[in-house]
Amino acid sequence: MFGRKAAETLDNAAAALHKAGGKAGDAVANTVLAPVRRQIDTSCTRCAKGKCKQH
Ligand SMILES: [Zn+2]
Repeated sequence: MFGRKAAETLDNAAAALHKAGGKAGDAVANTVLAPVRRQIDTSCTRCAKGKCKQH
């Protein structure tokens, strides 16, 4: 059900929230996205692309 594409979508959404809301955006990402993200056995797709600003 979950794959790399889903992981990428979630990583991008988290990054967008971080950019839009800073700490508040991170809080939303941690609450809403993190539980889903943890079910996907794929490392951060943005780190892999060198675009990650969170790790
Ligand atoms: Zn990352």
